[in-house]
Amino acid sequence: MEMVDFLSKLKEKRMEERKEVKPIKVDYKCPKCDNGYLRTYGTVLTSYPPQYPHKCNNLKCDYVQNFSITYPYIDYEPEPIKYE
Ligand SMILES: [Zn+2]
Repeated sequence: MEMVDFLSKLKEKRMEERKEVKPIKVDYKCPKCDNGYLRTYGTVLTSYPPQYPHKCNNLKCDYVQNFSITYPYIDYEPEPIKYE
């Protein structure tokens, strides 16, 4: 590794900031039956950006909606501030 490269890596490391976060699951409830959750079924629409069709997992429901992301997914929230 070049010296300059090494030094910039060292600086990067020093400037890194690490924080504890809380993982949360983000799901999408069906707006039609208000009972099931929307799930992908292995199809991608080759639009730009790509769209992922989701279908309600309630078998009695036929609701379908497209998203540019897939549900469920894990998001991270900063840990709440603890007051002492
Ligand atoms: Zn539904």
